[in-house]
Amino acid sequence: MNNGPRDMRTLGQVLVERGLLTEDQLKSALVKESSKRQRLLHDANIGRSGRQRVSISGAELLASFDLKIQGEKNAVLDEDRIAKLLAEEAKLDYKKIDPLQLDMKLITTVMSRPFARRHSVLVLGKEGSKLSVAVADPFDVELLENLRRVTGFEIQPVVSAKKDIQRIITELYGFRSSVKAAALTMEAGHDIGNLEQLVQLKSVQDLEANDKHVVNAVEYMLHYAFDQRASDIHIEPKRDQSLFRVRIDGIMHNVTSLPKVVHAAVISRIKMLARMDIAEKRRPQAGRIKTGKGEMETELRVSSMPVAFGEKIVIRIFDPTVLMQDLSELGFFTRDYNLWESFISRTNGLVLVTGPTGSGKTTTLYSSLKYRASPEVNIVSIEDPIEMVVEDFNQVSVRTNIGITFASALRSILRQDPDIIMVGEVRDAETASNAVQAALTGHLVLATLHTNDSGSAMGRMLDLEVEPFLLSSTLTGVVAQRLLRLICQHCRKKTFLTTDQINVLGMKMPEEGQRKLPVYYGEGCPACRGTGYFGRTAIYEVMPISSKIVKMINAREDTKEIMKVARLDGMMTLREAAIKKLAQGLTTFDEILRVTVE
Ligand SMILES: [Zn+2]
Repeated sequence: MNNGPRDMRTLGQVLVERGLLTEDQLKSALVKESSKRQRLLHDANIGRSGRQRVSISGAELLASFDLKIQGEKNAVLDEDRIAKLLAEEAKLDYKKIDPLQLDMKLITTVMSRPFARRHSVLVLGKEGSKLSVAVADPFDVELLENLRRVTGFEIQPVVSAKKDIQRIITELYGFRSSVKAAALTMEAGHDIGNLEQLVQLKSVQDLEANDKHVVNAVEYMLHYAFDQRASDIHIEPKRDQSLFRVRIDGIMHNVTSLPKVVHAAVISRIKMLARMDIAEKRRPQAGRIKTGKGEMETELRVSSMPVAFGEKIVIRIFDPTVLMQDLSELGFFTRDYNLWESFISRTNGLVLVTGPTGSGKTTTLYSSLKYRASPEVNIVSIEDPIEMVVEDFNQVSVRTNIGITFASALRSILRQDPDIIMVGEVRDAETASNAVQAALTGHLVLATLHTNDSGSAMGRMLDLEVEPFLLSSTLTGVVAQRLLRLICQHCRKKTFLTTDQINVLGMKMPEEGQRKLPVYYGEGCPACRGTGYFGRTAIYEVMPISSKIVKMINAREDTKEIMKVARLDGMMTLREAAIKKLAQGLTTFDEILRVTVE
């Protein structure tokens, strides 16, 4: 293994032999090799001295030229590509490292940060007497031999890009050392004798939240969640440790655990950032943090709750790019898009959006209000809570403790001449009645309800004592929605529905000799953390209120009957919309069953 390609010239020659580079490309790159190396060395070692200094590998050097790969459209030779090649040459596996699957504790206990950094090596896992490690240079025999001797394990190397290994070393060791240092400080704090502790109580408390290691650890957690497109962060105290978990595309993932002693400090730090009362640990609290993420301001909604082993914190991340989208990107099919646009383009009437929590209702409403926003239109929203501050809207937050409810806010707003009103949620009879009154008197009212399908929304309004004739004369349309996970584009694979699956979906069986319907699924890869899904889209059930349905509402007819009539008029149910997305190759059979019911 000693003789593998390591320097830029021999690596380049392997690529030329494989027809991926031309002789000329390699030659002209080699001419600039030494000046390029100087520059990379300089950049990589800014602020480093002595043993901390890093060297530049042949792979890194070659990748820095951004050479075009022959015979592949728009493909550039990068470190990942070279790492794959090196893996082939060394007859090892190539691996794109997934930070979520790493064992922080194992990594940081097996080898020190300086060692890992100097040799670009990362421990991936342990199985019996074997230690799996990612290396950037599989031909570094000395390194592998050293690892075997020092750890006492049989070393199972895989090849990864040096930049990935280095990035993860920086993040993981940084986080781990912050947590460890914080734990030491905390334990020291606990060691103080009682009297002294009493005297120093205040300073110990300040230290908890302001300690620089705790600050770093919290910073890391937030960045991690942003990088992974998480919508929620959970920090949960258990008996002996604290769990750090995130929700991505609607599904929870465990990230790591923290020593129990650090838990309280991390919680205090977050509560401090959210301007909550740090001393109050027995009652649930809520707060918010504004943070810059990319170019836009992102709001974090923080809530604390005492549980059996301490305080649990949940942070919801309100990503503006998720909450506010172009109407055409929300996921409507053409017929439904045109209907929805007609509902929200009117000057009056009531439009109801229904679905459980987390079904994307707020995104639909914000995006629609944004679509209507202009200097001539006065848009007012009543929300509980305001999920994202939008300058174009006049937003009122419900605060029951000082008497601002949906109903009372709606009453005051009507005196301020609004054109469009968004009612965050219709929960009670008074709000329902005020919303209908507003729609009757020349306002466009968009409101959400907690029901499962569009048909039940009308039943719910009648349950809230709205007169049928008032409802039928104001209601323009009802929409039900859900969020479906999208198949990861990096690991999408084709398959065909089985006979059983076709039956479950109630689809027409293809006849003998007819072409089978191809569907797709994600095999799981690092880009999607092995889930096979990446991102979400909405599915909609859009019901326009026809004259037939008006009559049915007036006669208080059953929801099921109304749904039947709407379907005859061409309404697509949530299940049908989901099947259409399946046929388009966007989502999977399993996801349809998870999200929709027949
Ligand atoms: Zn994937």
